[in-house]
Amino acid sequence: MPKFPFEGGELEYTVRRGTSARYIYFRFKKDNCLEIVLPRYSNQNPERLINEKRRWIEKKYRELSKRKPAFTGYQVLFRGSYYSTEAEFSAKPAVKINGQKIVILTPPDEAPKIILNAWLKRQAEDYLVVAAPAFAAQLGVKVKEIRVRNIGLWGYCTRRGVLAFSWQIITLPQDLAEYLVAHEVTHLSEFNHSKRFRKKLALLCPDFQEKEALLKTFVPPSRINLG
Ligand SMILES: [Zn+2]
Repeated sequence: MPKFPFEGGELEYTVRRGTSARYIYFRFKKDNCLEIVLPRYSNQNPERLINEKRRWIEKKYRELSKRKPAFTGYQVLFRGSYYSTEAEFSAKPAVKINGQKIVILTPPDEAPKIILNAWLKRQAEDYLVVAAPAFAAQLGVKVKEIRVRNIGLWGYCTRRGVLAFSWQIITLPQDLAEYLVAHEVTHLSEFNHSKRFRKKLALLCPDFQEKEALLKTFVPPSRINLG
């Protein structure tokens, strides 16, 4: 991958051509890698374009790299705090919290990561089956179904009234998880982001704008490899 100098180091970027895009644009992908998209027949020099956009790129990159990820090496984010993880042999799989440590009890033929992920998913389910109906009752709507999935976004609501969330919701501090649930539950009543939607959301979560901004300080979910 090509690179350009950045703060004493280097930043990698990719150039995508041959699209029908009419404009040049820059974006950071989920892994914080910069992508430059050029129109199909453009013969512009990417390095020169980077230099022109440098201030925006540097500012954006600093913001993105400060975000908190769900996993950092041997740590996992759970309900807003980082816990170090430790695997221990055991006949039965289980997870227990011991101070600031999460201990993964792992049978000989199993992988701690899979046990931990299954546990996080269950924690998310246990939280959501209580939180979503409680918000729904406040708006006088009903949740048909709640799904916790390995998806690349925090959550969504279908027209059939199904609420789906990333298991990663359980890594967030309580107030941000609540905001996400309130947001999706509000879609059961307003299937858009209109003024009416925001008014109803404010009933459940008065400072939702502040929460939206805070949510951006966390790395958004991505589908993780559970194998
Ligand atoms: Zn929405």
